[in-house]
Amino acid sequence: MEAQFIAWLRSRLPAPPASLLIGPGDDAAVIDTAKMAGMVATTDMLMDGVDFRLSQVDPRRIGRKALAVNLSDLAAMGSEPVAALVSLSLPRSGGFALARELYEGLLPLAEEFGAAIAGGDTNAWDGPLVISITALGRTTSRGPLLRSGAKAGDAVVVTGELGGSILGKHFDFTPRVREAIALASRYEIHAAMDISDGLLLDLSRLCAESGCGAELELSAIPIAAAAYQLAELQADSCSALDHAVADGEDFELLLALAANDAANAERDQPLLAEHGVRLTPIGRFISEAGIWSVDAAGVREKLEPRGYQHQFD
Ligand SMILES: [Mg+2]
Repeated sequence: MEAQFIAWLRSRLPAPPASLLIGPGDDAAVIDTAKMAGMVATTDMLMDGVDFRLSQVDPRRIGRKALAVNLSDLAAMGSEPVAALVSLSLPRSGGFALARELYEGLLPLAEEFGAAIAGGDTNAWDGPLVISITALGRTTSRGPLLRSGAKAGDAVVVTGELGGSILGKHFDFTPRVREAIALASRYEIHAAMDISDGLLLDLSRLCAESGCGAELELSAIPIAAAAYQLAELQADSCSALDHAVADGEDFELLLALAANDAANAERDQPLLAEHGVRLTPIGRFISEAGIWSVDAAGVREKLEPRGYQHQFD
């Protein structure tokens, strides 16, 4: 079955870009790195029962998401996708059809973002579906964006709107690759990451890497319509704002920009016309550790970094 699958896959793949010297079919892929200032590598694994329920989701959305989360990490580094390696652990029953559906979901996204499928591995077992993708990217002339460069006085800026992604965006989001590259060409981005586990948790991670803290104006946080819907749907006491600051999988960008760049970005909205994405300053980085809310009167309150964390001992 594996040979049959590889034959199907090779017939389905588009013509490889010039940078992919050797693609699927050999023992390993060969990528031309001569024109790359730096190669960025990232990997992400999604598991049935943990990250999705195969019985409830179209496998094409799972395949798409498995690649999209990797492209989001490349975006967070300010890099352009080059290639992806796709590893599947398939349940034995129906595995061939499932593999094709996963690929039918991820291939259009790979083409859209210029990621050549360079190879991977396809196995079958008596366990649930696991899909692991490794994505490779190249840095632009501005170099990689890191979590570690935020300075006290910089603005905290986010793309898009936050919260309630579980209602659909967590599968169907657009990785902010084009937005990150457009912003990096226009502003000096001091630090960046993608919001995968929740704004407060991810901001606390960026602050830890940068050796600083942050103050947020909660009223400035852009709340997604889905966050309001979720607050209404659920019988708990979580508000739309709670969802915006703590829900995972928004896959928006979290940025540290110099205060004047952030003011210009807010005024000019350079991503709005082409990408339909707003930039919103939501606070500032401070030298003191910790994440705080600050209101118009200047009253501060400590915020706990809430979000999604994998649990293990
Ligand atoms: Mg990330």
